[in-house]
Amino acid sequence: MASVEYVNVGKSFGAVKVMEDISFTISDQKFVVLLGPSGCGKTTLLRMTAGLETIADGEIHIGGKRMNNVHPRDRDIAMVFQNYALYPTLKVFDNIAFSLQVRRQSKDEVKKQVEWAAELLNLTPYLARYPKELSGGQRQRVAMGRALVRHPQVFLFDEPLSNLDAKLRGQMRYEIRRLHDRLQTTTIYVTHDQIEAMTMADEIVVMRDGEIEQIGTPEEIYDRPANCFVADFIGSPSINFLKGEIQGTAGQQTFHAGGMVLPLPAQTKAEPGQKVTCGIRPVDIAVGPDGPVKAEVVLVESTGAESHLLLTIDGQEIRAVAQGRLRARPGDICGLSIDPATLHLFDAGSEQRIN
Ligand code: ATP
Repeated sequence: MASVEYVNVGKSFGAVKVMEDISFTISDQKFVVLLGPSGCGKTTLLRMTAGLETIADGEIHIGGKRMNNVHPRDRDIAMVFQNYALYPTLKVFDNIAFSLQVRRQSKDEVKKQVEWAAELLNLTPYLARYPKELSGGQRQRVAMGRALVRHPQVFLFDEPLSNLDAKLRGQMRYEIRRLHDRLQTTTIYVTHDQIEAMTMADEIVVMRDGEIEQIGTPEEIYDRPANCFVADFIGSPSINFLKGEIQGTAGQQTFHAGGMVLPLPAQTKAEPGQKVTCGIRPVDIAVGPDGPVKAEVVLVESTGAESHLLLTIDGQEIRAVAQGRLRARPGDICGLSIDPATLHLFDAGSEQRIN
């Protein structure tokens, strides 16, 4: 097991620079998720770690050793791909055993390792089948089995669950995380799915356009997003953004957007007169008859356990999530209460968090 360190890493494809000056460290035994929209550079960073892309700018260290000129085979990492990359003509046993057979390990040792991985991954009944005779989830487990038997210093996962249906994805999320808890191998996991990031990661690295926007635990990223981009990317349904201005005097400030006035926490660092974007998560809005902020109901959707509401306040749309089933109908006027402590304030210009 090992730490992974990125030092001023950059990447260009031809004349196009896709990543610049990436520096961060993944501690030994951590499960770190690289999260960001399509094209932000997550896969490229993972492939550079694996040795599948060159590292022209900066350095990558695994276990304290500089990897720039180390052959992929000698990096002691194992990668699980989105498309599983199984050998169709080999049975499950031989797919899992492949890397060990290449390394000429004894038959007994190979058998022991494959049976160990199969047991961990609930694949024992399927060892004699071909990949085409397996479900998507089982194929995904075979791909993991191939990585496990190598006992690498670091596991790299590239969107491993994106070909699975929603229910299986949920189950595999749990299985991969549980496996990590047992084996404690440093893991880097790439996804654009914020639910995977929130549920699996010790730490999330949020990326955009080849740069890091924020690094933190899932709670830190959710509770204190560093900027509007991170706030918008994390949380479902998405956070509401209201553009407005700070008024009042120090210690008694309010946020004003159209006719809407929200009190701010006494210790806010926002300045009177400052133009801000106020982020309010839908789950932080309490909907009832008596709340101080009047809003008109536009749409109510029930998921069974929750009601998702689209409301308007002075023509501004805002989404709220309430537990249980609300009797509200389109056109009803209701009252919203918002705890000042749950508001996220960002400077309107820089979009960076104010406090
Ligand atoms: P996705 O979630 O869609 O896989 P990603 O965040 O993993 O996206 P990358 O695949 O790392 O993004 O790509 C980052 C950028 O680099 C993109 O703009 C992409 O078009 C570009 N890119 C990646 N590989 C190459 C390549 N071989 N040649 C040229 N450009 C590339």
